[in-house]
Amino acid sequence: MLTDVHVPDDVPAAVSLIAAGGTAMGGGTSLMPWLNDYASPPTTLVSLRRAGLSGVHLGGSTVTIGAATTLGQIENDEDLNPVVRSIASVPVRNLATVGGNLFAHQPHGDLAVALVALDARVTLFDETGTRELPVEDFVTAERPAALVTAVAFDRPAPGTFKYLKAARRRFNSVSIVTVAATITESDGLVTGARVALGGVAPTIVRARAVEAALIGGPLTEATVRDAAQAGLAEIAPADDAYASAWYRTRVFPVHLRRALLGH
Ligand SMILES: Cc1cc2nc3c(=O)[nH]c(=O)nc-3n(C[C@H](O)[C@H](O)[C@H](O)COP(=O)(O)OP(=O)(O)OC[C@H]3O[C@@H](n4cnc5c(N)ncnc54)[C@H](O)[C@@H]3O)c2cc1C
Repeated sequence: MLTDVHVPDDVPAAVSLIAAGGTAMGGGTSLMPWLNDYASPPTTLVSLRRAGLSGVHLGGSTVTIGAATTLGQIENDEDLNPVVRSIASVPVRNLATVGGNLFAHQPHGDLAVALVALDARVTLFDETGTRELPVEDFVTAERPAALVTAVAFDRPAPGTFKYLKAARRRFNSVSIVTVAATITESDGLVTGARVALGGVAPTIVRARAVEAALIGGPLTEATVRDAAQAGLAEIAPADDAYASAWYRTRVFPVHLRRALLGH
């Protein structure tokens, strides 16, 4: 039950309201359906719309995105474009925020999958001050009760970031399998691999077995097939209205290959 809505003008005011029991609201695309459709406890919302948390800052090779920046506002980013375009529909993307996507439960949270593969950091603010955490740690454990103010990542070298989402329909369809990876190669061999998966477990998966299987070898159909085989031990897909666990298990190797090799 919604009891009150605050629209603070800055971050300290938002932090105080949240510390007093308020719930942060980005675009409200997850929160409002939950408040409207379920018997929720009395809830005071703290809208971040005017708290000064929107916008993208480029500092050298580091990209910093304010938590209240909408997905629509980063749609033209050179690395995040395919990620954002794979999420929901234009009306949802014009409301949903970067910070809010870090709280989406799998199989939602495609931007968060990409941010794990990009080794992004999240900045948190609470009454004790500000701190930074790897997005990977943030999304794979219970989220701390703090305001997310920004995410930041270092721009990957051209061509090294790869992303592909398998979904049933073009718009508003959750992930069946989402693959995001940063792969670096030298002399035809993989020297670095950071692979994150969505849609295949209760939380985003950092696919370390896949990474280990890729590093040191050439990026070929055979090595990617072996890496996918290793990755099967890391995933724990579930049935939902979009796909069965069985189907997700079979789609995963195909989409890993398509994401990494492009075919
Ligand atoms: C029809 C539809 C289709 C969708 N399809 C996809 C999809 O394909 N892929 C995908 O990734 N997502 C999808 N989503 C989910 C969508 O991306 C999320 O709803 C969105 O990212 C949440 O962002 P928001 O700003 O609206 O969050 P809100 O609804 O405002 O908040 C969600 C949660 O995050 C918390 N929160 C928000 N911002 C902050 C902050 N700065 N600090 C601390 N806590 C915060 C809130 O307290 C709440 O718990 C879909 C949603 C809809 C409605």
